[in-house]
Amino acid sequence: MTEPDAAPTAPALAVAPTPLEVLRTVFGYEAFRGEQQQIIDTVVAGGDALVLMPTGGGKSLCYQIPALVRRGTGVVVSPLIALMQDQVDALETLGVRAGFLNSTQNPDERREVERAYRAGELDLLYLAPERLGVPSTARLLDEGTIALFAIDEAHCVSQWGHDFRPDYLRLGELAERWPGVPRIALTATATRQTHEEIATRLALTEARHFVASFDRPNITYRIVPKDNPFRQLLDLLRAEHAGDAGIVYCLSRASVEKTAQQLVENGVRALPYHAGLPSDVRAAHQATFLREDGVVMVATIAFGMGIDKPDVRFVAHLDLPKSVEGYYQETGRAGRDGLPSTAWLAYGLSDVVQQRRMIAESDGDAAHRRRLAAHLDAMLALCETVECRRAQLLRYFGQDHPGGCGACDTCQNPPQAWDGTIAAQKLLSAVYRLERERNQRFGVGHVVDILRGKATPKITQWRHDELTVFGVGDDLPEAQWRSVARQLLAQGLLEVDPAHGTLLLTEASGDVLGRRREVPLRHDPRPQGRTTSRSGGARAEAAALSDGDQAVFERLRAWRAATAKEQGVPAYVVFHD
Ligand code: ADP
Ligand code: MG
Ligand code: ZN
Repeated sequence: MTEPDAAPTAPALAVAPTPLEVLRTVFGYEAFRGEQQQIIDTVVAGGDALVLMPTGGGKSLCYQIPALVRRGTGVVVSPLIALMQDQVDALETLGVRAGFLNSTQNPDERREVERAYRAGELDLLYLAPERLGVPSTARLLDEGTIALFAIDEAHCVSQWGHDFRPDYLRLGELAERWPGVPRIALTATATRQTHEEIATRLALTEARHFVASFDRPNITYRIVPKDNPFRQLLDLLRAEHAGDAGIVYCLSRASVEKTAQQLVENGVRALPYHAGLPSDVRAAHQATFLREDGVVMVATIAFGMGIDKPDVRFVAHLDLPKSVEGYYQETGRAGRDGLPSTAWLAYGLSDVVQQRRMIAESDGDAAHRRRLAAHLDAMLALCETVECRRAQLLRYFGQDHPGGCGACDTCQNPPQAWDGTIAAQKLLSAVYRLERERNQRFGVGHVVDILRGKATPKITQWRHDELTVFGVGDDLPEAQWRSVARQLLAQGLLEVDPAHGTLLLTEASGDVLGRRREVPLRHDPRPQGRTTSRSGGARAEAAALSDGDQAVFERLRAWRAATAKEQGVPAYVVFHD
């Protein structure tokens, strides 16, 4: 029998490689992790996918492998322009043909990438989101073959979230413009709200959803009260992370600079990173951090999205993050290699005051400010929890966890709860009396001085030693009073006037003063040598309360009733600490 006389098919085209073969031969890994295989199979078969997977989970392969297996070029939309060159370089060393188009290129470089795309010479093409809106880009894409669209950092489409990018909103049009091309959206942010918003705004109506566990068992979570934050950070580094690579997040550029310098002075190899530095300096610092061992990057949140350094051993926050999502993403940069790592955060009352002020001063409407406030409240609740931090984090992301992880600070050193009802009554009473009897508002420092009966010049000047609450709180040390104030803020029983940093009562304060509400609080864990002899203090507390407080409450009730009818705002005298 003779075979029909047909030209033999080119061997390279005969059988497409399987995803597993690509994983092994191109990327050099043995096996897929988690749901990578199912996700990849979905996209290879032409389906859409929405992937929620924690930072470091391995999202990139979920689109890179389908791009290699399917015919044509995988088009990757990413907001991380600064990283595109690195990503492309890394792929090219593996023999993957990749290019990018963004605003950093000169026309020659751009033309060469466009040529390569048209000629079918690219496996992956990275695009900045604003590029896709340009008609010439759409025409270009039509001149080649699109294997798939990958939308990385897909939470940028969410206005609820903290990384919103208006250009992402247009990505919902991809399905109409290129109906046959599979789309895969990926993010490490997974609140139910963001999840739904991504699906809706990207029109992923038929997509399969893949929700990985957000647990990062190798990360130990620790949140400590801020005392002398730089000292605390240095202690942490010396005791547990000498010579380790890590990231220290600060809120402001100024504190980034200062902290980096102080670390260097203390023998730590630290570099600053923030948006105010020239781009070549930023790039150089990032490259040093990625390529060399044991570098500590001190940065604002401008640093880190998309950074893939496996051996980051700690992520430290010297200031309170604005949201649990942000905190989780930032801490998620630790321990991508699966080895034990630390997420450490120091926070204090001043963080709360500062952030409330930032929210009050932020652009946008009332709804926007309410969202920011809700984010902050969730973050505070995590800081003040007496529960397992991991359980609380995962529940925030809608995932069950039984608690008792054994590897967070509250599991390892369970905070002792104490009945803070009386302390809360005292503190709120002091705020109340200042307001009603003197028409004055003060910050927490002065209020604590009043409670502790301290004869400071300011106390004398304002004759605050004549207040009935003067000295009623001398049974608790100053640090504990600050802890009480912080926790009252976290529980919504006290407010800070964002403009002046002064303390205000809330609607719920009345329930505490009226003894309709108990106030369980936690003891701040002591770094070492925790003292347990609290019984004397507790008795003193009990003795110091009653009559005065009851009277205060009666007056407060009368006052509330009266002010409910009052028009206008009392002319307060405002003082800063
Ligand atoms: P993400 O984008 O989800 O944060 P990446 O895609 O950057 O995570 O992957 C994180 C790290 O895990 C990378 O170093 C990557 O090469 C590695 N990785 C991903 N999948 C696997 C796998 N199946 N086996 C081994 N390493 C993997
Ligand atoms: Mg990624
Ligand atoms: Zn725990």
